[in-house]
Amino acid sequence: MKKDMKFGTKAIHAGAHPDPTTGAIMTPIFQTSTYVQEAPGVNKGFGYARGKNPTREALQENIAALENGKHCVCFSSGMGATDAVIRTLRPGDEVITGDDLYGGSYRLFTKIYEPYGIKFHFVNLTDASNIEQYINENTKMIWAETPTNPTMQIIDIEACSKIAKTHNLTLVVDNTFASPYLQNPLNLGADIVMHSVTKYLGGHSDVVMGALITNSDEWHEKLYFVLNSCGANPGPMDSFLVMRGIKTLHLRMERHCFNGRKVAEYLKNHPKIEKVYWPGFPEHPNHEIAKKQMRDFGGMISIVLKDASIENTFKVASSFHVFSLAESLGGVESLINHPATMTHASIPKAEREKAGVVDNLLRLSVGVEDIEDILADIEQALA
Ligand SMILES: *Cc1c(COP(=O)(O)O)cnc(C)c1O
Repeated sequence: MKKDMKFGTKAIHAGAHPDPTTGAIMTPIFQTSTYVQEAPGVNKGFGYARGKNPTREALQENIAALENGKHCVCFSSGMGATDAVIRTLRPGDEVITGDDLYGGSYRLFTKIYEPYGIKFHFVNLTDASNIEQYINENTKMIWAETPTNPTMQIIDIEACSKIAKTHNLTLVVDNTFASPYLQNPLNLGADIVMHSVTKYLGGHSDVVMGALITNSDEWHEKLYFVLNSCGANPGPMDSFLVMRGIKTLHLRMERHCFNGRKVAEYLKNHPKIEKVYWPGFPEHPNHEIAKKQMRDFGGMISIVLKDASIENTFKVASSFHVFSLAESLGGVESLINHPATMTHASIPKAEREKAGVVDNLLRLSVGVEDIEDILADIEQALA
């Protein structure tokens, strides 16, 4: 596969080599735990399936191509991937990260790794110049998520990477909300890209998986070592499903963006809505950066209901028919989520509210259904 192919062509073809034994166009699901060796140590490049599986290899080649990266390592979940990166740190090391983070990342950092002596600074990264005051000789990493979940802040990846390079820090970007279709952090100077593959990459709400992409041989070796040593490896069936899902990523994303824009514009003028978080609005505080580093603005939108108690907010959240009330995002079907009690419940209330995750905030993952049905559903639920 030529390096200069465009996104949709790569989504369909990268990593998908016809099976040499049968010519099967789709990568087979290699449902095996081990591989027969011709003599001790003489094998076809595969020893034991925790380390390597051909279906997973094909998927990793595909995702690496989509992120313009040299290497990809897949994990059994997005958290497994995040854990693999943080595991490479040592007690005393410090990480600078955002103040609006996926709840599970916050929980991993504070509840699992802080007790091991790794320190995390939760900083407003929308102004990258906030970073420098937290840097000291122990600082090893910047962990940025953009757009953020759920308040849709946009963090300037290039500005963060300049600071990271000056101070010899590793910049990791959680690119889950944007997907590689909208944003490629490696091109903007990031060292590692993390994906919850569960979301847009998988795209059909039927798999949990994570991925790390890098251009650095050294980082690839370290991350693969963690995968093989700690065992958060994804199975072959899931790898196959994600490869199948990615073949339509560009088509799905076009529709997510189209529907997202229509929904954001509709909600903005709705009398029952106090606030709409969507980076496509010119008055969004980080709109210019979003325009610079993203190809479009995606289908993730958060809204604050006007003068609504938590009971009223629950009532609205339960009144949708096209949208389903559920955690997760990025699938073909529209989902609605109440972050304060669902995805972000593990963040203390005071912390949460400081980041804008109030009790009357709802997060929409706008799917790829027909826009008329989506808008009609929102209209009746708000009524
Ligand atoms: C879902 C999510 C994760 C965690 O991924 P899992 O696949 O659920 O483990 C991390 N970051 C973001 C932004 C997410 O939305």
